[in-house]
Amino acid sequence: MDFIDIHIHLQDYKTNFATDIVKKAQTLNYKKMLCAGISEKDWDKVAKWTDLYSDLIVPAFGVHPWQATKVGDNWDNLLCSYLEKYPQALIGETGIDGLKENPQQQKQLFIHHIDIAKKYNRPLIIHAVKAISFFDSLWNKLPEKFMFHSFNGKVEHLKSILSKNGYISFSASILKNKDFEKIVQNVPVKKILLESDGPYQPFEKGTISTPFFIPELLKYIAKARKCDYEELAYQIYQNSLEFINVG
Ligand SMILES: [Zn+2]
Repeated sequence: MDFIDIHIHLQDYKTNFATDIVKKAQTLNYKKMLCAGISEKDWDKVAKWTDLYSDLIVPAFGVHPWQATKVGDNWDNLLCSYLEKYPQALIGETGIDGLKENPQQQKQLFIHHIDIAKKYNRPLIIHAVKAISFFDSLWNKLPEKFMFHSFNGKVEHLKSILSKNGYISFSASILKNKDFEKIVQNVPVKKILLESDGPYQPFEKGTISTPFFIPELLKYIAKARKCDYEELAYQIYQNSLEFINVG
């Protein structure tokens, strides 16, 4: 069985630990890992990991909403230069975090990412926390291909995302959602993606998350959807390839 981790921050592990993850992933049939960069400084690290393991790692470059106040004047030109150097790269992680005090500033930055995603025709990786109301004026602006990463919102939020053909990516955090079953039952199978968000959002508090929890997460989702584990794994693998424009 093949797996793809559709959202990880490999550069945020200790280097030896990240190397171990990559080696183990290759032996366990993880075919791709989407490594997301969150700031200008971070992009170079993502690029280095990509150069080192170009068969496995698909890079993504973006400014995370938490970094919105720290962004340099020339960030957009720099982002475009990475996109030109890495034609397989996606855009993100970017988005809006309503728990921070500057959502309007984040929104402007996010819109700029959307415009770049459209210009370069790249999928967009969206971080949205307490942000759904900000999207009222954004739904019609989004690029053709986008995903809400580590979705952990409400069942009713799915509707708008899915009506715009968006993908929903789940990490271990969804298992703590009181509506877990309802949420995973309400996403069409072709729109489900899975991620570790490693090293963040571990299943067990105080541990470090890795891609190797994905099969476990898949088991929970298959059970909630009352479907076959292997069929689900295969479909999600196909969805992931399609999302990253491979295959
Ligand atoms: Zn992330």
